[in-house]
Amino acid sequence: MGLKERVVLPLAKRWIAGVTMDSAIEDAKRANTRGIGAIVNFLGEEIKDPATADAHTEEYLRLQQSLFDAGVNGFASVKLTQLGLGADDEGMKVRLEKIASNAERLRQQLWIDMEGSAFTDVTIRTYLAAHEKHPDMGVALQAYTRRSEGDLKTILDAGGKVRLVKGAYRESRDFVFATRAEVSENFARLMGMLFERGSGFAIGTHDSSLVDRARSLAESKHAEFRFELLKGIRDDLKDDLVKSGYRVSEYLPYGDRWYAYSRRRISEHPSNIWLLLRSLV
Ligand SMILES: Cc1cc2nc3c(=O)[nH]c(=O)nc-3n(C[C@H](O)[C@H](O)[C@H](O)COP(=O)(O)OP(=O)(O)OC[C@H]3O[C@@H](n4cnc5c(N)ncnc54)[C@H](O)[C@@H]3O)c2cc1C
Repeated sequence: MGLKERVVLPLAKRWIAGVTMDSAIEDAKRANTRGIGAIVNFLGEEIKDPATADAHTEEYLRLQQSLFDAGVNGFASVKLTQLGLGADDEGMKVRLEKIASNAERLRQQLWIDMEGSAFTDVTIRTYLAAHEKHPDMGVALQAYTRRSEGDLKTILDAGGKVRLVKGAYRESRDFVFATRAEVSENFARLMGMLFERGSGFAIGTHDSSLVDRARSLAESKHAEFRFELLKGIRDDLKDDLVKSGYRVSEYLPYGDRWYAYSRRRISEHPSNIWLLLRSLV
């Protein structure tokens, strides 16, 4: 076992279920006992080799079956570049179709995560095409991008489902709003559109002021939606939302590519750097 596995993995388990599928199923069951649904992601992105993309597809098919067999209230969320987007686009569509059909067979939903701006356009096009056949699929939209309002209108016109998040990638200022205040303002604007016209959407944030805003919209609009939060962040808020009668799901990543994901979570929040440094001494 390398230094990374010995020192950082125990800390990373705050944000990931573990390395194996079994660890994800166990975490999903634990979430269910708290009244929280599970959204499980097998970690990986930018897979260039078709054989590896096929292996990721097989992993998702097994994951969906394992969630079903374990009686878990939960489903999978995939990244299109882990299915070969950007290297083997036609193969990616075939792989996505396999996972989407399997979800349908097992009566599970399926989400598509949104990645960096190089993939936004093609992710939305792929989603809209797949959604025609699989109406229960949804896609993440990032409030930090200037284009998201237009994308949201297109998706709502097509009757699609959206998980609204702020956005997690480093992007050029041409593409994204520059300040946190602008991102939050755009999040609130897009959330207003979702409560007005959407159904089966998800509000994916740990930001208390946006969650409060969603709660007050929910009281007046009566839309069908749920809150989605990441594993290891704001457990207090998850429990509070469940107690208040809202539907809540937790995003649970797992797999051996845990390092890049954990780095993203650590760098998002300064206090996590102290957690990391403390674990090193
Ligand atoms: C269910 C779900 C799915 C997601 N899917 C995608 C996706 O497909 N594509 C994408 O680009 N992004 C995705 N994200 C990540 C998202 O874009 C943000 O990077 C992340 O949610 C942090 O933003 P925030 O809205 O919570 O607001 P922030 O302003 O970042 O955080 C609000 C508060 O939450 C707490 N908090 C937030 N992050 C951390 C952390 N890392 N450690 C400790 N506390 C923290 C703090 O109390 C903070 O003050 C997803 C997020 C969620 C919840």
